[in-house]
Amino acid sequence: MTERAPASDGVHLFPIDISAYKAGNTGVDYITTHDSGVAGPHLMINAVTHGNEVCGAHALRFLFEHDLRPTRGKLTLSFANVAAYESFEEAAPYESRFVDEDFNRVWNEETLDGPRQSQEISRARAMRPVVDQIDHMLDIHSVELPQPPMLLAGPKAKGRALSAAIGKPRHVVIDAGHAAGKRIRDYAQFDDPARDSSACLVECGYHFFEEAADIAIETSLRFLRHFDAIDPAFLAEHLKDPENVDQMFIEVSGPITIETDNFVFDRTFEGFEVVPEKGTLIGHDDDKAVHTPYDNCVMIMPARDPLKGKTAVRLGRIV
Ligand SMILES: [Zn+2]
Repeated sequence: MTERAPASDGVHLFPIDISAYKAGNTGVDYITTHDSGVAGPHLMINAVTHGNEVCGAHALRFLFEHDLRPTRGKLTLSFANVAAYESFEEAAPYESRFVDEDFNRVWNEETLDGPRQSQEISRARAMRPVVDQIDHMLDIHSVELPQPPMLLAGPKAKGRALSAAIGKPRHVVIDAGHAAGKRIRDYAQFDDPARDSSACLVECGYHFFEEAADIAIETSLRFLRHFDAIDPAFLAEHLKDPENVDQMFIEVSGPITIETDNFVFDRTFEGFEVVPEKGTLIGHDDDKAVHTPYDNCVMIMPARDPLKGKTAVRLGRIV
């Protein structure tokens, strides 16, 4: 494992006690389904897919504490990788992302049906019967460096449509599926173009900024609004900024992988800068100059501490 410092920007947003939500009502720990009794879609808001991405737990607590019920269909609120979440230690806040392996890479049918065992696969198997019933899902995440929030729409048109309907934040990244294994966002019905089910993932900025919890709550309210599953009066009270923003959809063309121990950016990138001209110098990997490969190249999730073998930055095209 790569040695790294404790959270360089400090921990300002901490895990909360979620033990009150363990029993739930679905037979699966930490999953609660509210049924409106009225016809409508079955929606899911999923938190802590990654254990140290605590903003989602804050969003679910907000919904529970307000006893928010869907006005039609069903609403399932789930805490996914609770074992990882509960292993959080402030001195090593990145270590609680998972226990044995990334929960967000095990959602292939072959893995779920196969013989392999891990803490995360066991949890995914336990959650699967619930997830199988879901029509539309919002999966709440955050990122390891201070960056603007973004939606990750996935490779399907329906993921882009859901992101547009949520209407905020501004940046929507059209990412491919993960080569190392499927995300829950890309599981079964969510990835099947023949079915209406959709899912998207929100990255609420830096893991440990308080603002991430606000973004997680706002995005959850917007998700419920899109499906007309939330009381308008509650929405009016709690969705402070109801207007949709002018979104930028960015298709990831690929990563710049760091080949040496001497990668440096030519300037500081915070994320989502648009570099207008093809061939602009953006950094050096030892003595090799790194240039943008096309006009209006978007810098997605630049690394702060570029390490050999890791991704320096993903590049994207505005679509
Ligand atoms: Zn995550």
